[in-house]
Amino acid sequence: MDRYGYLYVFMVLLIVTGAVRAAEPRAPLELLGRTVEAGESLKFSVIEDDSFEASYLDAPLWVAHGNRSGPKLCITAAIHGDEINGVEIARRVFAATDPDRLSGTLIVLPAINADGFRTGRRYLSDRRDLNRAFPGKANGSIAAIIANAVFNKVIVNCDALVDLHTASFHRANLPQIRVDTTHQPSFELARHFGVGIIIDGRGPSGSLRREAVDAGVPAIIYEAGEPLRFQEQEIARGERGVVNIMEFLGMISGIQEEIPLSQVFKRSSWVRVPPGQGGFFFPEAELGTKVTLGARLGYVVDPLTDTRYEIDAPVSGQIIGMAVPQVVLSGYALFHVGQSMVESDQDD
Ligand SMILES: [Zn+2]
Repeated sequence: MDRYGYLYVFMVLLIVTGAVRAAEPRAPLELLGRTVEAGESLKFSVIEDDSFEASYLDAPLWVAHGNRSGPKLCITAAIHGDEINGVEIARRVFAATDPDRLSGTLIVLPAINADGFRTGRRYLSDRRDLNRAFPGKANGSIAAIIANAVFNKVIVNCDALVDLHTASFHRANLPQIRVDTTHQPSFELARHFGVGIIIDGRGPSGSLRREAVDAGVPAIIYEAGEPLRFQEQEIARGERGVVNIMEFLGMISGIQEEIPLSQVFKRSSWVRVPPGQGGFFFPEAELGTKVTLGARLGYVVDPLTDTRYEIDAPVSGQIIGMAVPQVVLSGYALFHVGQSMVESDQDD
C-alpha cells in the first residue's frame, strides 16, 4: 500500500471509530441500588423493606433515563400530603416523557410524604412537617429518616429541582414561583417556568428548597391553588411550567413558547384579623387583584352582635394568597399581599 493507501485506511478508521463512539449507548444510571438503562423508565420506592414502619416511610420514585446525555431534573410533590395538585402535575409530566427522546434524566418523587398523601393529611403520621426536616438524619424521627434518604441519595445528585406545592389549609394561592432571587441559577429556573409571578425569599430552614440551594442544587417552588382538590387550571399551568424548564435545560425540544415577563415581589405582608374581631369571614377581593392602600378586601361579621368589621388593605400591592370563606379568629391571616414589584426580563 502506498502512503495514500495508508492515509485512506487511517481516515476510514477515524470515521468508523467516531461513528461507533457516537452510537455508544449512554451509561446506565445507578440509583438506590437500581440500574436504569438509557432509554428506560422505571418506578420503584426510595425506602424498600418489609418492616411495619416501612409502609410509613415509603416514597415512590419514578425515573426516566434519557438516551442522550443532559442534566438531571428532579421534580418533587406532596411533601405536604394534602397538596395534591402537584402529584397530578408530576404524574402528567412523567407520563408524557419518552426516555428514547430525552436528553438527560427526569427523576420524579410524586408523593414524598406518601403517608400523608394516602390519608389526605399535610403532615406525617407522627404530626411532623416533612418540609422542616431536611437534610434529615438517618437516626431521627420518621420525617428525618425520609428526608435523609430522599435528600442524600437523590436530591444532592440533581442539577435542578422543582418542588410542587399548593397553599395550606383553607387558603388559596395565586399560581406563583418562590425562589431566592439572589441565587442566579435558581432565578433562571423561576423565570423560565413562565408563570409570571415570582416571590423572593430563601424559604424556612429545614425546607427542601432552601437546603437544596445550600447544597448547590438550583431549586424553586411552584405554589398554586388549594389543598385536597385537583384543580385543572393550576395543574395545566404547572405542567406547562415544568415542560418549559425541560426545554430551557435542553432536555426536550419543543416549540419554545414565549416566556412572559415575570413580576418579582421582593416583599409581602399578611393582613390578619384584628384582635377581638373574629367571626364569619367573607372576602370581596379576589386572588390576583391589584389593591391600593385602604382598598376594601372583605369583612368579618360577629354572629352574636351582627357587628361587621371591614378588612382594608394596609399596603398597596397584589393579592397573592388568601383565606377562603370560613370562621376566623384574632390574628388569623386573611390576605397575603405582594409588594415592591419589579419586572424582570433580563436574559443572560
Ligand atoms: Zn406545601
